[in-house]
Amino acid sequence: MTLATELDAPTRWNARFATLGEAFGTPLAPQALPAPYWVGQNLPLARQLGLSDAWMASDEALAIFSGNRVPDGSAPLASVYSGHQFGVWAGQLGDGRALLLGEWATPLGPQEVQLKGAGLTPYSRMGDGRAVLRSSIREFLCSEAMHALGVPTTRALCVSGSDAPVRRETMETAAVVTRVAPSFIRFGHFEHFSHHDQHAELRRLADFVIEHFYPECAQAPGNPYAALLQAVSERTAVLLSHWQAVGFCHGVMNTDNMSILGLTIDYGPFQFLDAYVPGHICNHSDSAGRYAFSRQPNIAYWNLFCLGQALLPLMDEQQQALDALESYKTVYPEQLLVRLGAKLGLARTEDGDRALCEDLLRLLAQDKVDHTIFWRRLSHAVAGGDFEPVRDLFLDRAALNGWLAPYRDRISGQAAEPTGARMLQTNPKFVLRNHLGELAIRAAQSKDFSGVTSLLHLLSHPFDEHPGFEAQADFPPDWATQIEISCSS
Ligand code: AMP
Ligand code: MG
Repeated sequence: MTLATELDAPTRWNARFATLGEAFGTPLAPQALPAPYWVGQNLPLARQLGLSDAWMASDEALAIFSGNRVPDGSAPLASVYSGHQFGVWAGQLGDGRALLLGEWATPLGPQEVQLKGAGLTPYSRMGDGRAVLRSSIREFLCSEAMHALGVPTTRALCVSGSDAPVRRETMETAAVVTRVAPSFIRFGHFEHFSHHDQHAELRRLADFVIEHFYPECAQAPGNPYAALLQAVSERTAVLLSHWQAVGFCHGVMNTDNMSILGLTIDYGPFQFLDAYVPGHICNHSDSAGRYAFSRQPNIAYWNLFCLGQALLPLMDEQQQALDALESYKTVYPEQLLVRLGAKLGLARTEDGDRALCEDLLRLLAQDKVDHTIFWRRLSHAVAGGDFEPVRDLFLDRAALNGWLAPYRDRISGQAAEPTGARMLQTNPKFVLRNHLGELAIRAAQSKDFSGVTSLLHLLSHPFDEHPGFEAQADFPPDWATQIEISCSS
């Protein structure tokens, strides 16, 4: 295989989504990004996908991933979906700036490859079809950070940039992020066909998702679409347990930003919590706080309700959908306890552990303790026996001592060293704090991409110590609170 042909392999491209039919999208070529250059590459992911470092360094790779050349065998397509935005039916949306190149046969299994920011599509509405450098870097870094933390997510292969101007609040420049996932189908795809009473298409879409991603639902007793709703509810519950445990605030949990596979998708105004403030709102455009951190689990349930509503035409009675949704209410708390128990180093969780977790979260909120630093210090404390650095994080040290006593009692039956070691592999040292992303973005805007590369490396190994990078694991600087992240991207 020569360098120029790694993605030009018609036999490795598949277009399963496109086989759904014309109602599902519009075939269309990407709009070329003028004079592109590399901003960042995720070579470990490229290797996992079967792409060599040499090919990733080629002009061909840059041309393809900046939308300047369509690889042989790929049939790019923008898909149509609808959705509820901020709790209100928003009507037709769709891939307004994302293009599906197709599905690529990889050692990880079939993966869809999408270019985000590849120009106007029939679904661009008032937008320009572009993504700016700032938000492309954020998506690139955060999807890999999440993956390394074990959180289900779409992946990001690379970012290419251009000096082409793009107007947002100020003039910025364009970029394209290449993202990869088994499927980019959203709740909103189902809502679209249901809303328009296109029941044949709705059924085709549901059958497609069941066949390729939830084959067990075809065999389930009762209605297969209710089984699908239940399976999606459970995966979404697992996803939300990860978000809440790691302190991730998505920022725009509209139903068009909810993956049918339970993946984190569409990184916009997201934020990892600095201080543990349950009511934290990371999206500057979300004045009512609909998507505040602590509301995310309920919002996910609300979104699943919309999915259930959309699937109703495929069910015999409403009760089937209601029963399927019930599973969220048991799986989410169970999974959250599993995640928090793991963060506490518990080999297995017991009845009383829920209260232990709740008491701790109350203390963290009361003193607005830094979330990531708390868990990391607790891990070191359990591993080494010195709890002073943990106490130093609290104003109310007596209250913390009141919690530490039963906690230490609880883990005393376990060997301290393996417990601490396990905790250090569960509680990251590095997360993508807003200010870290901001520093890498500012440098990249002056064509220094080294910050993007080094941050990608840290975030891809978030449990390692990385000597020399203490500043990236430290408390946020004062100016971090002034960073305003909105839907504008
Ligand atoms: P988001 O809030 O980023 O999930 O986007 C909501 C909808 O707006 C989706 O249908 C996007 O494709 C579309 N959209 C967002 N930004 C743009 C843009 N710059 N150009 C075209 N469409 C966009
Ligand atoms: Mg979106």
